Amino acid sequence: MHDHRRLGRELNLFDTDPLIGAGLPYWLPDGAAVRHTLEEYIRCEERRAGYRHVYSPVLGKRELYELSGHWDHYRDDMFPPMDLGGEQVVLRPSLCPHHALIHRSRPHSHRDLPVRMAEPGGMYRSELSGVLGGLTRVRAIHLNDAHIFCTLDQVVGEVRDALGMIGRAYRAMGITPTRYRLSLPGPGGKYVAAPGKWERATALLTEALDEAGLPREVAEGEAAFYGPKIDVQVTDAAGRESTLSTVQVDLHQPERFDLRHIGADGAKHRTVMVHRSVIGSVERAVAHLVEHHGGALPAWLAPLQVAILPVTAAELPVAEALARRCLDADLRAEIIGPERGSLGARVRRVRLVPYQAIIGPGEAADDRVAPRLRDGRRLPAMPAGELLARIGALVGAHSPGLWDGGNGGNGVGKVTEGATGVSG
Ligand SMILES: [Zn+2]
Repeated sequence: MHDHRRLGRELNLFDTDPLIGAGLPYWLPDGAAVRHTLEEYIRCEERRAGYRHVYSPVLGKRELYELSGHWDHYRDDMFPPMDLGGEQVVLRPSLCPHHALIHRSRPHSHRDLPVRMAEPGGMYRSELSGVLGGLTRVRAIHLNDAHIFCTLDQVVGEVRDALGMIGRAYRAMGITPTRYRLSLPGPGGKYVAAPGKWERATALLTEALDEAGLPREVAEGEAAFYGPKIDVQVTDAAGRESTLSTVQVDLHQPERFDLRHIGADGAKHRTVMVHRSVIGSVERAVAHLVEHHGGALPAWLAPLQVAILPVTAAELPVAEALARRCLDADLRAEIIGPERGSLGARVRRVRLVPYQAIIGPGEAADDRVAPRLRDGRRLPAMPAGELLARIGALVGAHSPGLWDGGNGGNGVGKVTEGATGVSG
């Protein structure tokens, strides 16, 4: 069973320091490469789907959260306010209020809608130190967040499209949702009281799930304080379920922020907010991916994609030229030279790296490499350019597969002593 905290340290992805504090992990270069790649994938998907990106500050005045409702319904999870020159500022518990203000800052006609606003941004939760660990419970959360401002008629289509984007992302990441949870309010005062709005928003989410052909399970007491949501649930190796992605319909904050647009009839109409996150927080997503794949991430996400293994020092110049070509092809590569042990030992050391390019004297002589795949497969020697083109195509397509596409081929630990020789 894989624990992302152990794997994360072993693979040099992230770590913590008591001086920075519990629940405040930092990302090491290899982890940062994974996170950046994931964020860039989402950014491209969003651009293609008509989203525009913004940046907003991680702080806001206390009054902002009083207006949004966070102060009343979510204060226990927020950091205490900071006094600053007679006013109080708060680390934001979510991005929605900032996005609502950005949207409100310009007038909108029904012809502009839907406005899809995205931001990979930080938000903060005052988790108790007792429950913190690794990347799953953190105090600084980086969410791939977005808010869609639209008309009531557009909600179902937008929710359905967001679910489609989530499904594509899961396929690319090589993971499967356990279930789609329709999260409704439960007893207790943490939810805004507006029965009509809850019913209407729930009906819209249900319709979107039906249109997308996705089964749902209802859970009471799991809604956001301002509205119901679809939670895309994943399960870790220990059988624990958690939420990665969410899609929410919000009829509450648009009213609090008085979001309106001019309709076709020339009158002012209330705008609806759809909140959605494709992979949830990068912290939780990376924790889940690392555990699910046992550290053997899909090639497009792997911190190191190509390990270049010259058999002897004589092949080093050829290895260096190949490393340069990888860099030019936007592939993350590193030479693991003979000073780091026998070829067998080096192959074992890079057992999580999807592609291993072995260069012996025969290969060096005619610009070929002998590729090995992480799952132990050895391919016939081929021109270096052909290997890079093949890897580049798989990585560029965000394929979860190692060589043949599809879902297979991410196995680990099948590299045996007897299979470490140079082929070809
Ligand atoms: Zn939101």
